[in-house]
Amino acid sequence: MKKTFFITGTDTDVGKTVATYALGLLLQNKGVDVGVFKPVQCSGNDAEFLKQSLGIPDPIKEINPYFAKEPLSPNVAFYRQKMRIDKQKIQRTYETLKARHEVLLVEGAGGLMVPIARDYCILDLARDLDPDLAMIIVSRLGLGTINHSLLTVKQARYNGLDVAGILFSDASLKKKGVSERTNPGIVKQFAGVPVLGTIPYLKSFEPRQVLRSCAETVNIRSLLKTRPSQRERLAATDKENIWHPFTQMQDWVNQEPVIIDRAKGCYLYDVDGRRYIDGISSLWVNLHGHAQKAIDESILCQVRKLAHSTLLGLSNTPAIELARQLVDITPKGLDKVFYSDSGSTSVEIAIKIAYQYWQNSGKTRKTRLVHLANSYHGDTLGSVSIGGIDLFHQAYKDLVFETIKLDFCDGYRAPAGKKYPEYAFECLDRFEALLKKEHGTIAAFIVEPLVQGAAGMLMWPKGVLKRMAELCKQYDIVFIVDEVATGFGRTGKMFAVEHEHVRPDIMCLAKGITAGYLPLAATMVSRKIYDAFLADYKEQKTFFHGHTYTGNPICCAAALANLEVFRKEKTLERLQPKIKYLARELKRFNAIGNVGDIRQKGMMVGIELVKDRDTKEPYPWEERIGVKVCAKAREKGLILRPLGTVIVIMPPLAITAKLLKELVDITYWALTEVLREA
Ligand SMILES: *Cc1c(COP(=O)(O)O)cnc(C)c1O
Repeated sequence: MKKTFFITGTDTDVGKTVATYALGLLLQNKGVDVGVFKPVQCSGNDAEFLKQSLGIPDPIKEINPYFAKEPLSPNVAFYRQKMRIDKQKIQRTYETLKARHEVLLVEGAGGLMVPIARDYCILDLARDLDPDLAMIIVSRLGLGTINHSLLTVKQARYNGLDVAGILFSDASLKKKGVSERTNPGIVKQFAGVPVLGTIPYLKSFEPRQVLRSCAETVNIRSLLKTRPSQRERLAATDKENIWHPFTQMQDWVNQEPVIIDRAKGCYLYDVDGRRYIDGISSLWVNLHGHAQKAIDESILCQVRKLAHSTLLGLSNTPAIELARQLVDITPKGLDKVFYSDSGSTSVEIAIKIAYQYWQNSGKTRKTRLVHLANSYHGDTLGSVSIGGIDLFHQAYKDLVFETIKLDFCDGYRAPAGKKYPEYAFECLDRFEALLKKEHGTIAAFIVEPLVQGAAGMLMWPKGVLKRMAELCKQYDIVFIVDEVATGFGRTGKMFAVEHEHVRPDIMCLAKGITAGYLPLAATMVSRKIYDAFLADYKEQKTFFHGHTYTGNPICCAAALANLEVFRKEKTLERLQPKIKYLARELKRFNAIGNVGDIRQKGMMVGIELVKDRDTKEPYPWEERIGVKVCAKAREKGLILRPLGTVIVIMPPLAITAKLLKELVDITYWALTEVLREA
């Protein structure tokens, strides 16, 4: 058995330490090896008392790494003592003690909302220490306890903490009244968590006497139960009932799935508590880490206020506030926001608007769409139609509509006899020739600006995007940028178009818009295009499109919180050194003979593997080299997902340099291992 219980009080002086002592004794009495940890203590000798009375051999420095002399709130006490609390040190000490004992009893300080540093409470400490720990809440017996107990349980639960139970502590000799007798029952009824019992008033701390006093009134059996692993049952049901996206299910059912159960920061945890680095931001969406406090709170508050109301015929508060902010942060001219729920729908909307714009404007011959070879804009039929990845296109060839596909340089493989980056501009010359001749029938041109993600993180030379925008303007073509992947800081700026000061007519946003929390998308549209839809009702110039959950308030609240975090945490500013650091770390991969190309823009990275570096001969796709590398990385606790022969690294923007290094190290190791075997 390996377990951690975090003992917190509903208030100070409720008898937390006595409760910890009693629990320790009861556990020892059942033959369990118990350790104690009191990360912060202000005055008193609780840690020493626990060490001595439970006979724990660990040094007091480990049992209590932070001690302040004054009996004050820890943040104030340590500040006055000019001591800074190092969360990492607490974490390390915790891991050491946890490894050493069967059960570790961690005692907090005061209650859950007691601050121990700036913006950091006991609650945060509990969440950070271990996603698997369970709380034990120590409550007074008397009047006022119901409120405090229920608030504490609620707060713990809302923060994703497991509550193992409430333990009442009778810390006074006062005569017991009705409230003392009835409170535990009422708390149990409302809290929905087990009540472990009541520690009676202890006249002496002599172990045998304490055990005798608690024998009848405290029941720790539920604490000793180990939860059976859910893995097997869940894996079987998954294979029976889930059809996974972009997955050959025949392969899937023959493998053991990783089943994610919780997440914190840049880590994902599976049902057995195994930890993985989220190396692809949960498929390119997460920005500030998982369980980000401000976003969690914002969503929770919104849920209780308004979960959903339609934008068809009504409006709602978060949708309005968010529209304003999106208009403010996107390039000038994009004044209108059309909400939907995925990248694909944001693109569907963009192309329908661009098409109808010309219909409404009387230029009815402008109907065709131009897109790039290797483009990816989503999986619905409209977005597949303007997709250039043949594999996806081919499967649905009779369903998709005709488009103009523009050949384009992929930055790594220019055709024979051509050189990069000149070839990219040559492609643009061809685009211009096309426009010169056929602009009268072309409605719009759509691109993923700077980085073509799904095609394998293909990146463009400087000046290409700018030139595209100029050509569209010159030949009166709607310029649509799909920033679904590149938006919200991924390339180092809020939006990729900012790198070249480009102002598109339409911009598609999704993925990072809610920082990876909820499905939401926005199609940003210029006023000029919007105005073409204004007319008398009977003219039927309305945009006939809408999704049921358009502008969902919870999703919009998440997006608002996302933008708030960008401002508060100075995310973009703090990202710059990490981008440079990552660039330096990636240089090592050049030493691997089968690494053909290393591409990076901001926090988007593609490492392309080739059979022969000189000829750039690719690995045959059947060899699944990328899949193998990612499977290898998983063995060391890193989640990656390749794009064919390209290994993608796209961690949350909030990742620390230290974790970034670990991520790169594991990737490097996995690559060399797999290539050696190949
Ligand atoms: C992911 C992606 C999409 C599709 O978004 P979904 O939310 O999966 O529909 C569209 N465009 C780009 C550039 C993307 O990366």
